[in-house]
Amino acid sequence: MAQLALKNVYKRYDDGRKKLFRRKKEQGFAVSDLSFTCEDGEFVGILGPSGCGKSTTLRMVAGLEQITGGNIYIGGRRINDLPPKDRNIGLAFEDYALYPPLSVYENLAFNMRARKVPEDEIKKAVDYVAPLLKVDDLLERKPTALSGGQKQRVNIARAIIRRPGLLLLDEPLSHLDGKMRQTLRQEIKRMHHEIKCTTIIVTHDQMEAMSLADKIVIMKDGVLQQIGTPLEVYDDPANEFVAGFIGEPPMNLMPSVILKTETGFQFSFGGSPLRIRVPRQYGPVARDGMKVTLGVRPVDVLITPGGGEQGASAPVAVYENLGDERRVCVRVGDALLNITTTEDAYYERGQIVHLTFHEERTHLFDPETGERIRTSK
Ligand code: ADP
Repeated sequence: MAQLALKNVYKRYDDGRKKLFRRKKEQGFAVSDLSFTCEDGEFVGILGPSGCGKSTTLRMVAGLEQITGGNIYIGGRRINDLPPKDRNIGLAFEDYALYPPLSVYENLAFNMRARKVPEDEIKKAVDYVAPLLKVDDLLERKPTALSGGQKQRVNIARAIIRRPGLLLLDEPLSHLDGKMRQTLRQEIKRMHHEIKCTTIIVTHDQMEAMSLADKIVIMKDGVLQQIGTPLEVYDDPANEFVAGFIGEPPMNLMPSVILKTETGFQFSFGGSPLRIRVPRQYGPVARDGMKVTLGVRPVDVLITPGGGEQGASAPVAVYENLGDERRVCVRVGDALLNITTTEDAYYERGQIVHLTFHEERTHLFDPETGERIRTSK
């Protein structure tokens, strides 16, 4: 096991256009000034949309890509120039890359055999790793006789067979269907509890990162957005991007203008008479005419019987009953506001409902920069 640290890491792929285009410093970097640590035994998720630099980061840690700037340390040792084979890393990619003519046993044994490890040691290693990933019944099969989920289990088993200091998983579940994904997700979590190997998973799926990782590193356009535990990034997003990326259905992000009225500050929404009281904690930062993006999660909008000085009324646009929860979408001027509730209620399209926001759980963002507007609460 080992601690991993990235310090101010940059990556620019040489796309051969350097002479044609004079680019600003930030442009052209697949990864820009990235720093984070993954403690010994910790499970870290690198999360972000496609193209944000997740795989590039993982490949730099594995030594499969040269880094353009900065330093990478494993167990305190700078490894920028260390060849991949000397980094004591286990790798499992999205595509399984198993050898088709070889049995599962032989696939697991392959690298050890190439390194002339004695047969009894290989058998011991396979006997250890196969039950851990529940592939012990599949050892005689060829990869063509395995399901996608089974292939990925073998792939991960192969990555950990040499008990690496660091396990790197690149989108290991994205080929699998919904149910299989969930099963394997739980298996990976269980395996990590057992072997406690320092692990990094790259994923674009926030659910995957939230459920597996101790700590999530969120990236966009090669730039770090936030590092935190799943709860921290959910409850306390650093900016509008993180707020919208974490959570399903995503946080409502509504353009709004704050108005000063006789009864205090209120949010107003373009094209809508709806007014919502600005929560007390924003008193010190609110100004008349201030443009903000109001963020509130669908679970934090409450439909109430009506009346009262707080909240306001709006018409229902869509009602969906998903069995264990109901999703209600209401029209607020030009925008739609999503609400989820576990209450057993039915709403007609066009029905006027009364809304209140969970005030402690509303967030304000600067529409220009996307940054969170903090309060001195
Ligand atoms: P992610 O894993 O988040 O989908 P990648 O790390 O694969 O993103 O890619 C980050 C950026 O680097 C993208 O703009 C991608 O087009 C670019 N990129 C990735 N690999 C290469 C490469 N071999 N050559 C040039 N550009 C690349």
